[in-house]
Amino acid sequence: MSDPREQLRRYLEQRRELGERELVLDQLSVEEALRIVGGAPPATRAERAPQGAAEGPPAPKAAEEPPPNDWRETLRAAGAAPAQSAAKPVRASEGIPASTPEVDGQLAPAGIVVGTTSRDLFGARGPSLESLESVAKAIATCTRCPLYATAKNPVPGEGNPDADFMLVGEAPGATEDETGRPFVGQAGQLLEKILAAIKFTREDVFIVNVLKHRPPGNRNPRPEEVSACSPYLVRQIELIRPKVLVALGTFAAQTLLDTKLSIGKLRGQIHRYYGVPLIVTYHPAALLRNPAWKRPTWEDVQLARRILDRAVSGA
Ligand code: SF4
Repeated sequence: MSDPREQLRRYLEQRRELGERELVLDQLSVEEALRIVGGAPPATRAERAPQGAAEGPPAPKAAEEPPPNDWRETLRAAGAAPAQSAAKPVRASEGIPASTPEVDGQLAPAGIVVGTTSRDLFGARGPSLESLESVAKAIATCTRCPLYATAKNPVPGEGNPDADFMLVGEAPGATEDETGRPFVGQAGQLLEKILAAIKFTREDVFIVNVLKHRPPGNRNPRPEEVSACSPYLVRQIELIRPKVLVALGTFAAQTLLDTKLSIGKLRGQIHRYYGVPLIVTYHPAALLRNPAWKRPTWEDVQLARRILDRAVSGA
């Protein structure tokens, strides 16, 4: 696709799909965004130059500039430089202590820290369920939110109970609801390929969703449903005690990290969930819609794998 406007439209749609509700395109200001849509005059060269570069050679005449052939050129022509605006690492949220264990220090910047150690993961908040089987049984008879009434089957999660690598998705879809198993549709097949790329089968890892019953019509989970269902997820993480957590998609990431930040701002960092390194990447279903996200997803899972390898080797 060569039409930059069409590419820009798709880009904006992707950002919306990632959970962004504000018109903030990386480091674009409102003025820059207005220029893109023709609502503001073009930026001067001084405005476009990065800090400290205002003394550079004169800008070429507009007529000499080649027409933009992708959305990045469109943005640059409008006064922004998205390719140069690498997201700044997002440090710990207000009131949450930051920590960057040495073992991860050279792999990626530290991100959000939720909780301080794995020991206080549950405290008195979670149900007293002593095994993954008892968690699954409790989910099967759960009425803590209305979703049990419309779903066909509970989908508690599955995999290796001693897994070092645990993945958290959003909620069951239609195929998962039919089968009672997580990630078994098209997105599940893609997830298996992603796992294979880092030398895992789905039997090696543990796969769960935040919600254990399907929201009707695949609608977004509601806050009260997440709140009702979270103790099961928390308990599963405590029982499995993974060495690495991977949040698949905006919803899982925002839920685990208790943040509204977009996935674009959460990727590429090593967050901590009660001491467990947590990597954020795209949901496989989103990859099916946007194949361009396969490469960043590959980078994310490679990072997660390296963290695990270091943790296992004690390096
Ligand atoms: S979605 Fe979670 S909280 Fe709601 S009924 Fe199912 S198991 Fe219970």
